[in-house]
Amino acid sequence: MAEQAENYDYIVIGAGSAGCVIANRLSADPSVTVALLEAGGPDTNPWIHIPVGYFKTIHNPKTDWCYETEPDPGLNNRSIKWPRGKVLGGSSSINGLLYVRGQREDYDDWAASGLSNWSYNHILPYFKKAEDFEQGGNEYHGSGGPLKVSDMSFTRPICDDFINAVHSMDVPLTNDINGENQEGVGYFQLTAHKGRRCSTAVAYLKPARNRSNLHVITGAHVTRLEFEGKRVSAVNFNHRTQQRRIDCNNEIILCGGAVNSPQLLQLSGVGPGELLQNFGIEVIADSTEVGSNLKDHLQIRTVYKTHKPVTLNDELSSWHQKGRAALQYAVTRTGPLSMAASQAVAFCRTRLSNQRPDIQYHFQPLSADSPGEGLHPFSAFTASVCQLRPTSTGSITIKSVDPLVAPKIIPNYLSTELDCQTAVESIKYTRQIMQASNMAPHIKEELLPDPKAQTDDELLEQARNIANTIYHPTSTCRMGTDATAVTDERLRVNGVEKLRVVDASVMPDIVSGNTNAPTIMIAEYAADMIIEDRQHANRQ
Ligand SMILES: Cc1cc2nc3c(=O)[nH]c(=O)nc-3n(C[C@H](O)[C@H](O)[C@H](O)COP(=O)(O)OP(=O)(O)OC[C@H]3O[C@@H](n4cnc5c(N)ncnc54)[C@H](O)[C@@H]3O)c2cc1C
Repeated sequence: MAEQAENYDYIVIGAGSAGCVIANRLSADPSVTVALLEAGGPDTNPWIHIPVGYFKTIHNPKTDWCYETEPDPGLNNRSIKWPRGKVLGGSSSINGLLYVRGQREDYDDWAASGLSNWSYNHILPYFKKAEDFEQGGNEYHGSGGPLKVSDMSFTRPICDDFINAVHSMDVPLTNDINGENQEGVGYFQLTAHKGRRCSTAVAYLKPARNRSNLHVITGAHVTRLEFEGKRVSAVNFNHRTQQRRIDCNNEIILCGGAVNSPQLLQLSGVGPGELLQNFGIEVIADSTEVGSNLKDHLQIRTVYKTHKPVTLNDELSSWHQKGRAALQYAVTRTGPLSMAASQAVAFCRTRLSNQRPDIQYHFQPLSADSPGEGLHPFSAFTASVCQLRPTSTGSITIKSVDPLVAPKIIPNYLSTELDCQTAVESIKYTRQIMQASNMAPHIKEELLPDPKAQTDDELLEQARNIANTIYHPTSTCRMGTDATAVTDERLRVNGVEKLRVVDASVMPDIVSGNTNAPTIMIAEYAADMIIEDRQHANRQ
């Protein structure tokens, strides 16, 4: 029997950090209908909601797209894993829970490039609108918003020692890296509440699920957008064993993230004309930059063995200890299971002549071969360092017309002089921290990088051998005011009608910090624009 035709005013593709915000805000008006299509499943896996469960949900095909990059010359031809959330909440359901907004100058630079409504002063109200800060609202923080933001409750003396060591290098202490000034060292803030993760599915979707005008379909992998002339009119998607289609009366909002949004645009005929023609795809709009300008933060995980058993490797080495931690969490929602991906944070300048921090530390009182793998059977900690504003750019391109085939991810890490220099400087800076009086007594041995590496060339080689993504891809559907930008400043896709992209891919450049909060801010802003445009159209 033919399926009944379905249509909605708005179709939102992807229920990730951005998509859940959009679905909530648009469906708050009962007179419009909204469909939210998510390729992954519901967020019923209990590990999603337990902060430390991060280690169970990444690299797990039930919650992660499990992407891998092409072999990257900048990483000595290593191909690395690139997790992306595939579940309600998207990457906000499997991320490290770290709440970081970036620097004022990031957004003022966007504004200076022509996006005048995206200055820090324009976007700050949207960070605040989203937020329910545990300490209450103030000039920089919001209260009463859907997204719970709390202070780090899980600390360890070794984290305090790291903080004091960085402070001894003239970096100010801070208890709010999201306040007036990002520069400083202290503890992270988290998207968590009372020891539970606050993903956008929890914050935005859960309270809206009972609205009769919002239809959430999980297991719905969108395979193509359909156009009537230049106007997007419908989506095709695989749902369980069926191929389905739903029509759109007004707008489609693509929130697939920095990998999948450019992939779906290209598959649907919006992308670099030559690439599409090579695959026999009809070109709806020759948009050369769809999939270009890929930026990501590359982390160099330095690992140090300690003399004394002061790390979580020691605290959780036996089943008995693990059982006790599980009990502690079950009873009090505290302890190691309530732990986010990192604890201490520092925003530093590798050179004092730099105007603002150019590197970030993620400090963890533990070590493992890679996130998601078991803890080392010896005492050690990890100080991961990444460059905040890399200049290397990569790309996402389809490698098949089959929408189920992953696109080519080419990050091009460490392909510019500045990025190579910063990688070298950041390792040197880390070694200085470890020599400071608060840290030096702990250090038994430098495990990573190789302590034999001393010259700049040797340190760069180490970076190429050990560096990894810290999971922040952006900018593959860059917004801008110039002719080749993928979207305009209201996130409408150039060259077609009634289609917006709203997710991390629209950032004109990567922000100086973790990307979840900025993506949620973008979605809050976009929702206001979409509602404003509808009201404007209704008045005409
Ligand atoms: C392992 C990991 C750790 C991270 N840690 C942090 C952190 O601690 N702090 C921080 O700020 N940031 C962190 N990030 C980054 C941050 O979570 C992302 O930048 C942010 O979630 C991106 O939001 P988005 O809306 O662009 O994409 P996503 O949240 O990834 O959402 C995209 C959604 O679209 C769905 N989708 C994609 N294609 C289709 C399709 N064709 N059909 C239907 N649905 C589709 C996906 O399944 C997904 O649910 C981390 C990311 C990862 C992966």
